[in-house]
Amino acid sequence: EQVKKHYPVTGGVFRRQVGAVKAVDGVSLAIHRGETLGLVGESGCGKSTLGRLILRLERPTAGKILYDGRDILALSRDEMRPLRRKMQIIFQDPYSSLNPRQNVGRIIGEGLVIHKVGTEQERLDRVRHLMNVVGLRPEHINRYPHEFSGGQRQRIGIARALALQPELIICDEPVSALDVSIQAQVINLLMDLQEEFHLTYLFVSHDLSVVRHISDRVAVMYLGRIVELADKAELYRNPLHPYTQALLEAAPIADPDRKKQRQGLTGDLPSPLNPPSGCHFHTRCPKAMEQCRHAAPRLKENGDRHWIRCFLYGDEVDETLG
Ligand code: SF4
Ligand code: MG
Repeated sequence: EQVKKHYPVTGGVFRRQVGAVKAVDGVSLAIHRGETLGLVGESGCGKSTLGRLILRLERPTAGKILYDGRDILALSRDEMRPLRRKMQIIFQDPYSSLNPRQNVGRIIGEGLVIHKVGTEQERLDRVRHLMNVVGLRPEHINRYPHEFSGGQRQRIGIARALALQPELIICDEPVSALDVSIQAQVINLLMDLQEEFHLTYLFVSHDLSVVRHISDRVAVMYLGRIVELADKAELYRNPLHPYTQALLEAAPIADPDRKKQRQGLTGDLPSPLNPPSGCHFHTRCPKAMEQCRHAAPRLKENGDRHWIRCFLYGDEVDETLG
């Protein structure tokens, strides 16, 4: 609820604060049990930071993170421990997120050791079972990460995330480092696991075509703010925000029926350090109006469960944003 993460930036000889990187700037979002919420935006827009805030790996500058209605920022370390088991993360880069000096058994079983689950033999059995579940061969339990392919390493990361029987998994660009041919296999695996273990996913990606298959709903983020949020079918059929439209135009999807001119995105993502005033997107928006420079539009519902932050759909200003 209204989550902000601003990093102060200092400069000059006196190291005075010269600005703030507004990595996350007033995000309110619900992730429903059992769903996959796709979170999409260009790299540097704050998606990973939001994921880390949800897991309480970082603390927000403002706002609340609620898990099953409980404010997790108010919990002590002891109170947080059982919740840590319920929330796991899968990282983008299976090369750097696995310790090269640990064998697979140790990597996957690490959480079991930390949380003192079972005897050593039970933990070994569980690791072998998990390897089987994610499509790795249990007899490779003593091998090291470099002995596996990229796709297999991501399976190791997935098995590690599953070890403690979590409820929520933040999938932070889990297939972005993989070959296209492997991406679909890993996404299908994640979907099978979701069904089998009743998992909830926040699936972070810079690529709208990657989240399309797996998501139930999709949120689009631009420079720290959610600009559009809708059910998947609705978002791809009827994108309303000029930024979402541009992202979809830029996506390499063959569509001979597309009558609209391909406009795509022009210009680079502005720096999140002192971002553009008003609507952050006005420097790149083909439909920008005068008011877009001065005020930020409010995120509001436009039609059924379709949320949009843009003055083209109403004049309301978001007073919570500076
Ligand atoms: Fe474009 Fe204005 Fe809408 Fe922002 S508010 S997306 S600048 S039309
Ligand atoms: Mg990221």
